[in-house]
Amino acid sequence: MRNLPLHWKIIIGLIAGIAFGILAASMNFGEFVKDYIKPFGTIFINSLKLIALPLIVASLIKGIGELKDISKLSKMGGRTIGIYLMTTFLAVTLGLLLVNIVNPGDLVSDETRDLLMAEYSDSATSKIDLANQQKGMGPLQPLIDLVPSNIFAAATSNKNMLQIIFFVIFFGIGLILIPEKKAKPVLDFFDGLNEVVLKMIDIIMLTAPYAVFALMATLIVESPSMDLFIALIGYALTVLAGLGIMIFVFYPTVVRVVTGKGYKEFFNGISPAQLLAFSTSSSAATLPVTMERTQEHLGVDEEVASFVLPIGATINMDGTSLYQSVAAVFVAQALGLDLSLAQQLGIIMTATLASIGTAAVPSAGIVMLIIVLEQAGIPAAGIALIIPIDRPLDMCRTVANVTSDATVSMVVAKSVGLLDTPKEKKWDDHYPKA
Ligand code: ASP
Repeated sequence: MRNLPLHWKIIIGLIAGIAFGILAASMNFGEFVKDYIKPFGTIFINSLKLIALPLIVASLIKGIGELKDISKLSKMGGRTIGIYLMTTFLAVTLGLLLVNIVNPGDLVSDETRDLLMAEYSDSATSKIDLANQQKGMGPLQPLIDLVPSNIFAAATSNKNMLQIIFFVIFFGIGLILIPEKKAKPVLDFFDGLNEVVLKMIDIIMLTAPYAVFALMATLIVESPSMDLFIALIGYALTVLAGLGIMIFVFYPTVVRVVTGKGYKEFFNGISPAQLLAFSTSSSAATLPVTMERTQEHLGVDEEVASFVLPIGATINMDGTSLYQSVAAVFVAQALGLDLSLAQQLGIIMTATLASIGTAAVPSAGIVMLIIVLEQAGIPAAGIALIIPIDRPLDMCRTVANVTSDATVSMVVAKSVGLLDTPKEKKWDDHYPKA
């Protein structure tokens, strides 16, 4: 047990947690799980989130400071955003293709539809309110939101990840532009801080199998009744098929073709992060582990990982965008609405943008889905149809989100010659000056 790789320990925790949850639900000790087991899952997620901000600050400043040249930063930035957009676009298109082939909405009977709409209308309304708050803003609001007016205020919430990234990149640019002698102590400080934070992640991860046990047991005890799951099986399978193609076919193939790393090496490296994504439903909470795994096990240089992954965790959500496209068309089908080609093409646009705007926390995707629905002229109250099954799908789409971030970090690292670089061989040896 001691020498078992981490991902196996987490899988054991996961299965044991599900079994314990089922037992607790059937033997009526769900309250015990909520009172005495759930807190350990919450503590684990909190400690990962706690580490996310210092990690991003330390590693991003160190990474950018070491680039020593603004043109390198802009090259890496351009590639990162470009590839992220490409994978998201591909995921939405795949989702639309699948949902149009399977037509899962036609499988929902009229009675089930009315039942779902009645049962989940309250929950749908509160999500619609949240979406309306996001929508009532001008078109350039996301740009305004990027620039905080006070860095300490921004740092008080993990929701402001992009603001922090903006500040840190700006700070890093300043660091590159000042004389090396002055920059060195600052860089050394963040280098040391980075080491400390990585060690803290190692310590947190020792508890991961137990935490995953707690998270899964709680999830089972708190989940709604199974009957409604069954009615939504066609929809759920369509989303899962799309996510499965992305996770098990698309990303490993890209990794294989671009970096030469095989299936087994890729999954051995990334699986602990995938399992955590599954258990926490949050790419933000998983970020510290994604960063550690890609650097220590998949050969991505720190300069690339610290830049590409925090940005990816915030804006790159292939799983979410795929789910949003399937869900939008499913809701339309179930409500008996026919979507024109133009409306479906509109969904590609809005689902891509909505996924970028989705926060990396549980259930954020369903709130942004409302904006996709409204743009396509589908009644937003229709989300009541998919709420009962949203959490398990959230867990799976978060796995796709995290796997995509890791894949793109490997591709970007390879493209700038920073994959599997021995420590002493840095950027300049591999990447000719423009
Ligand atoms: N839970 C997802 C994530 O953190 C976002 C979503 O709800 O789709 O990546």
